[in-house]
Amino acid sequence: MLELPKILDSHSHFCLKLLWKSCLDLGSCDNFSEIWEKLSHLKKGKLNLAVGYHNERFALDKRDLEKLPPLVIINYSLHGFTANREAIKLLNLNSIPPEQAMLDVWKYWAANEIEEDAQSFRERAVEQAKQWSDLGLYGACDMLSFALPIEFENFYLENYYPDLDKRKVKIFLDGSLGAKTAAFTRELLLYEDQQLYKILEESTEKELAIHAIGPLAIEQILNAIERLTQRSHKIRLEHCQFIDKTQALRAKGLNLILSMQPNFNRDSFTYKTWLGLELAIKNNPFRMLIDEVGFQPGKDLIFGSDNLPLGLAPALETALFGELEEQRLSLEELLKGYRADSGHGTTLYDIDYTKKRASLHKRREAKF
Ligand SMILES: [Zn+2]
Repeated sequence: MLELPKILDSHSHFCLKLLWKSCLDLGSCDNFSEIWEKLSHLKKGKLNLAVGYHNERFALDKRDLEKLPPLVIINYSLHGFTANREAIKLLNLNSIPPEQAMLDVWKYWAANEIEEDAQSFRERAVEQAKQWSDLGLYGACDMLSFALPIEFENFYLENYYPDLDKRKVKIFLDGSLGAKTAAFTRELLLYEDQQLYKILEESTEKELAIHAIGPLAIEQILNAIERLTQRSHKIRLEHCQFIDKTQALRAKGLNLILSMQPNFNRDSFTYKTWLGLELAIKNNPFRMLIDEVGFQPGKDLIFGSDNLPLGLAPALETALFGELEEQRLSLEELLKGYRADSGHGTTLYDIDYTKKRASLHKRREAKF
């Protein structure tokens, strides 16, 4: 058993997790009839939002979807969705690029949730903060906040919004590995070079968290920042899983913060066939970043879970026992990157060095 300080999850989805609970979850459906059974109870005349859908396993017929009330079905990776015409009309989504439309769907959903019952939304948020704290977190950066800022007693939440008018802004440059939309080719970039440059130029004084997974998204943002004649923004690059050494040196020179997910070491195996081995092993090159380029965990290299899954235990496992040496981190590096602080309390973990497993220690209640 190991007692470790509580951590701050630098990239997580507090608000989405909360909103998720009021969506229709298709994640447990094993076949079409189960999906259709769930879709047969939709609310009429208002938006229905279904999540957890695996479009690589089930292909729903668009014509059947048209017979249903307004419905948006979101892919399990949270990138990519299907919507029927009723929903598109309701959300006014026609001319918006898909990733942006996705954010509008969540915004609409959050506004409705809060409008329906702000008090209960708040209560559920407090309850969720308590659950996250029990998982070993003293705080989290919410990377897609759509809701009212809520203050918690013993939990710190830092909100990043998908709106350019907010002070802390989240911007997406590409999609995800799960949806095969990470930018390994330029067509997958969500902004034109000039468009991105303009956004940066107009958002000095802001804190930007910029989602860039594929090498071309990383290249695009580095180019754009280097073009700026003056800069006062604080910029974090989210994920940057396929950053190479030349890009890392440029990022270091530009004082960028890399916000990465040790959990995602596993992507090298999950997406091996799609990426090809040569590319797959370039994912999350932590040793290069720390040993060769000088990034310092906790300072300009920070860690988060992206809720995949949440908590320190999965990251402990992949960081300490990961198969690729290039991705491994020491316990000290991992804790620093997770901005661990025992001032906020500690959490117990079980680490099995033989089986190479780490888990949250389950308290055995004393029985009388
Ligand atoms: Zn995320």
